[in-house]
Amino acid sequence: MTVQAVVYASPGRLELQDRPDPTPAHDEALLAVSHVGVCGTDLLVWEGGLERVRPPVVLGHEFSASIIEVPPDTGLRPGQPVVVEPLLSCGECTPCRTGNSHVCVRLGLVGIDVDGAAAPTVAVPARRLHPVPEALGLREAALAEPTAVACHMVNRAAVTPGMTVLVVGGGPIGVLVGLVAHANGAGLVVVSEPNKHRRAIAESVGLLTSSPDDEPVDQLAARAGADGFDVAFELTGLGVGLQTAIAAARVRGTVLLGGLPHGAITAATAPAVLKELELRGSRVYRSADFKTALTLLADGRVPAKHLITKVVALDQAIDGAFKAIRDDKAEMKVLIDVGGDAS
Ligand SMILES: [Zn+2]
Ligand SMILES: [Zn+2]
Repeated sequence: MTVQAVVYASPGRLELQDRPDPTPAHDEALLAVSHVGVCGTDLLVWEGGLERVRPPVVLGHEFSASIIEVPPDTGLRPGQPVVVEPLLSCGECTPCRTGNSHVCVRLGLVGIDVDGAAAPTVAVPARRLHPVPEALGLREAALAEPTAVACHMVNRAAVTPGMTVLVVGGGPIGVLVGLVAHANGAGLVVVSEPNKHRRAIAESVGLLTSSPDDEPVDQLAARAGADGFDVAFELTGLGVGLQTAIAAARVRGTVLLGGLPHGAITAATAPAVLKELELRGSRVYRSADFKTALTLLADGRVPAKHLITKVVALDQAIDGAFKAIRDDKAEMKVLIDVGGDAS
């Protein structure tokens, strides 16, 4: 049987293609996809900006699903709602052997390096499944993956109660980082974002915002008091974002690098030396971050439905989801409803 899937066909080209239904390997589960989130990483793959990717490949790495088939020794059962930690690690490199398989030197992702979930069915390693809590719908559960990204960043930055936090870049990850920082007890969270639609969404979920076009960085830093911010998250991947984070962080504060730059970027970094800043990277997540993400989504501390600005059917996904997040500045999180109830 063949199914329709959104396929990255070649640099700059997405196609709706007929693909064979996947056959799960002995350690894999076969899933019926419910909802798929589209993100900046998908756009990067689409434009050919991730060199390791070998087309054709079915996109979709942020998703919720129901189990069709699962190996017997997993404690999971057919029909169960799940989300998937879409990491593929080698198990042999030093990071893998020392408990850091999320930064495997050969790290791959379902939906980027192997066929993903922008299709009715997907086969994934059974050990990467997480059951969805009863209180969480499958539509909102599709945000588990980006929420786990945010949880990992907040852990890496060691945000503790009372801290002042600046988030540079108010896209979906930035808003999620702000919400997770609040959940960790941050005393003040400000999201710096030039796009007014995105600022409005950040404000609608209770975050303070700053427009970089209207608020100079010294004024922004002063919002955290005379010293500046304890932690500044750089999520833009741009020199100007890095420069803002470095400028607004306090002496001996932390700059968390979460945005992936395209090539080399330029920023004034002298203050990072003079203030003895801690610059720390963050990549994807650990299993524990996925569990935290599901808890925060289920109890409403991450109110996913406020971040979802559009839901489209699979056969409309290229224009309605991928082109929409590339071109429409009013979108935040766009989902593809593959097999959900369209609610
Ligand atoms: Zn993503
Ligand atoms: Zn490895």
